[in-house]
Amino acid sequence: MSARILDGQGLATRIRAELAPRVAEFAARNGRPPGLAIVLVGQNPASEIYVRLKIKAGSEAGLRADLERLPEHASIADVLALVERLNQSKVYDGILVQAPLPKAVGEGAMSRVFDTVAPEKDVDGVTPNSAGRLVQGRPLFVPCTPFGIIELLEREGIQIAGRRACVIGRSEIVGKPMALLLLQRDATVTVCHSRTPDLAAVTREADILVAAVGRAGLVTPAFVKPGATVVDVGINTITDPAVAAGWYPEGHPRLATFRKNGSLLVGDVHPSVADIAGALTPVPGGVGPLTIAMLMTNTLRAGQLAAGST
Ligand code: NDP
Repeated sequence: MSARILDGQGLATRIRAELAPRVAEFAARNGRPPGLAIVLVGQNPASEIYVRLKIKAGSEAGLRADLERLPEHASIADVLALVERLNQSKVYDGILVQAPLPKAVGEGAMSRVFDTVAPEKDVDGVTPNSAGRLVQGRPLFVPCTPFGIIELLEREGIQIAGRRACVIGRSEIVGKPMALLLLQRDATVTVCHSRTPDLAAVTREADILVAAVGRAGLVTPAFVKPGATVVDVGINTITDPAVAAGWYPEGHPRLATFRKNGSLLVGDVHPSVADIAGALTPVPGGVGPLTIAMLMTNTLRAGQLAAGST
């Protein structure tokens, strides 16, 4: 058996195309496009790439998407002052503070920053207000990654209600909201983490398995119930040729990419899982593009909230 590949990239393109006329209508009615400010502190190379993709996608969707940079040595007071200024802005409806912040900003800085974002501009769904509303089943903004995964499952016709779902990972931004969204759609949900004993025995029970860990190839066929839907959130880089050779057979195009670049972007799910799963999201081209599409969706919603038109 070879799993059906769930094309996140294709769906993200469709979602952004559906969004474009709604953004244009908003701009015509309000005399301005919905605005998204992305705060980037320091020069983390991965963050630079994510931020660039988000700005590009925002512009293509007709949003105003701007980067607000602070230097590596910025203090927590600098970051909070910028967020406060953006909270007051009439131009930016949405604010996203790119994680992680540099270590120099200080311990607990990310939470303090999230606490400061105005709930009505929280397009990343990271404030306590957003989290609380999500727990209560009346979300204002759903964190973009789990939001995109639900959109994918629903549009692909994958039944959630009555199924067993397992989420590996319990972060505030992916694992926990993912589990809540599945629970709210009547799945029976188990959440696993680094202290879960015999992880594979637990995940093998799942009809829908979401891996949000950050460990290349953690999920092997032994973790997967035959026919299950497997969603791979992880983004990892492999650089060891022996590891790459264990991932792809000789002649596979991904192995050629590895040899050309000396590294390869991979998920938490080993490609051999395709032999046992019923459906599988690829990395790249799965959850990542959907995360960005849902950020655009949330930004339009924030604009509509600001304009009083929802
Ligand atoms: P975190 O590091 O915040 O959380 C990772 C989770 O995995 C933790 O709950 C941790 O458990 C758990 N974990 C770690 N090791 C194991 C293990 N051996 N077995 C079981 N559980 C384990 O990561 P995020 O949630 O922010 O991100 C997860 C991954 O998803 C990363 O690779 C990230 O890059 C990627 N990501 C991708 C996005 C996309 O758009 N595609 C968006 C966001 C993230 P514990 O709590 O016990 O420490």
